[in-house]
Amino acid sequence: LASSEVKHEPSQVKVGDSVVIGGSRVVVMAGPCSVESEEQIIESARLVKEAGATMLRGGAFKPRTSPYSFQGLEEEGLKMLAKARDLTGLPFVTEVINPETVDLVADYADMLQIGARNSQNFALLKKVGQCGKPILLKRGMAMTIQEFLMSAEYIMSEGNQGVVLCERGIRTFETATRNTLDLSAIPVLKLKTHLPVVIDPSHGTGNYHYVAPMCYAAVAAGADGLIVEVHPDPERASSDGPQSLKPKKFAAMMQKLRLFAEAD
Ligand code: PEP
Ligand code: MN
Repeated sequence: LASSEVKHEPSQVKVGDSVVIGGSRVVVMAGPCSVESEEQIIESARLVKEAGATMLRGGAFKPRTSPYSFQGLEEEGLKMLAKARDLTGLPFVTEVINPETVDLVADYADMLQIGARNSQNFALLKKVGQCGKPILLKRGMAMTIQEFLMSAEYIMSEGNQGVVLCERGIRTFETATRNTLDLSAIPVLKLKTHLPVVIDPSHGTGNYHYVAPMCYAAVAAGADGLIVEVHPDPERASSDGPQSLKPKKFAAMMQKLRLFAEAD
């Protein structure tokens, strides 16, 4: 179902009432790694909207490497995201980490994110295939492109054609960056599938210094969208501060992005 041999024209995935991923404009989703408080997510939503983002991101259920790290505000976080959407009009994407909470997350969110660590959790993929909301499917950190497409197939074969693929860096021998962002995945996926492709330079590099150049390169290489971590006060973030852009840096990046593509 995901193959470009089956469907030749590029797919467009609608999110909320206003956003289309895979159209002529690059869709920018931005916001903090984690929802931390109502004030934090509302302020983030206002700032990223002002800079030109058309979708909000924020995690309420956090799949942390350590069980002792902040695990997210769960349903309270979803309510805060919904409030930020009501105030700004930005639809939001948020992660769902297990099949039991898919219905709950789908009640609030405009788009459900499957994280890198869950990208071959087949029970979860099948469940989101039945949820009726579009899915942002991240590539696993040790996943081949073929396996990535098979994970998309799990969702689509349950009846959900609204799948957007997200490259977020893979694990290599290189340690200078958190992961190695595989930008060649963009043209490869464009050849193999009709599904839209979004790039996550924040998890892809793990360092805010490298985020803007990777955004420009991704758009130049044909990405349909970007998902970028932005925090009003990265030093105090409960997760992923070192890779989060300050709002001013994000706004400057959005300005320059317009040189490379029509960006939303
Ligand atoms: C995230 O988006 O905050 C996240 C946990 O991403 P990934 O699953 O790509 O690590
Ligand atoms: Mn993160």
